[in-house]
Amino acid sequence: MKDFWKAFGAELTELAVESSLPAGQYLWREGDPGNEVVFLVDGEMEVFHETSEGDGRVVLRTLGPGAVIGEIVGLDGGARSATVRALTGCAIRRLSIDSFRQLLRRRPDLMEDLFWQQTERVRSLTRQVTRHHHRAITDPLTQLYNFGFFRERLKLELDRAQATGDSVSLVMFDIDHFKHYNDTNGHQEGNVALVKVAETVKRTGRRGDIVARYGGEEFVALLYGATREEAFRFAESVRQAVEREAFAGGPAQPMGRVTVSGGVAAFPADAPDDEALIAAADANLYRAKAGGRNRVVAESLESPRA
Ligand code: GH3
Ligand code: MG
Ligand code: MG
Repeated sequence: MKDFWKAFGAELTELAVESSLPAGQYLWREGDPGNEVVFLVDGEMEVFHETSEGDGRVVLRTLGPGAVIGEIVGLDGGARSATVRALTGCAIRRLSIDSFRQLLRRRPDLMEDLFWQQTERVRSLTRQVTRHHHRAITDPLTQLYNFGFFRERLKLELDRAQATGDSVSLVMFDIDHFKHYNDTNGHQEGNVALVKVAETVKRTGRRGDIVARYGGEEFVALLYGATREEAFRFAESVRQAVEREAFAGGPAQPMGRVTVSGGVAAFPADAPDDEALIAAADANLYRAKAGGRNRVVAESLESPRA
């Protein structure tokens, strides 16, 4: 980052007041009026949001020598958008908003530098937000969407379908005798198998399908625009693909291979809302298990007997 004090120090010296801030002290708090711009000459500060959860703060960034702080509020006249605190003893220069405005009129190159600094800050925050968002909606083991994201999307997609008259189908999969797989091959091998099944479900779907890890060894696929019959065909493809797949511990499974069972339900044909749709798919999954596993059940549809 550009050292603003070095670049514009000569002009700032007459306008800015030299000052210091001991370690731990606040420069300002979120919500305070923005009445000055501060240049950090020496030391470190941190910028954070105060929250009521966790340890009470979310750190946005740390600042080192050369940083300019509070310049945006300096320009728009609003309140401080974050809290700033000294991490070490800091040497600073305080500049009143009026002087800051005068300086910007004299030195448009300073304005340009501030613009580029803001641009870099926005880019960096966008990267951070994207990374955090990805982590928040993804299951770390399988890289599928997690339960929370799935539930949110299901509501949204059903609203969309309600408005357009489209259908939406849901398929729930559960690995058969997976406890046995874990017990025989160990948890680590169990994880390998879980990832493999997850990839099979994902690969069999179309782009745009929402495939999520619903629970331990349960997966769910949300197929927008698919009828019950289309969803059933998809679920059958997944079931057959898993059946064909080679798993290290497959031969030792009760049925001689790793298999999945599936339950299908369609909106609005089988259920009027998200809760009911999940319950209907779950009930069909239960029927598939009760019927002997390695099969898919939908209302009036069932896998052919092996
Ligand atoms: P069913 O055919 O009726 O589905 O039998 P099951 O043994 O698969 O069913 P159950 O629900 O009893 O067992 C699920 C097992 O999944 C139990 C648990 O040890 C295992 N499991 C859940 N999450 C994970 C995971 O993240 N990794 C591994 N390796 N195993 C998991
Ligand atoms: Mg289960
Ligand atoms: Mg199971």
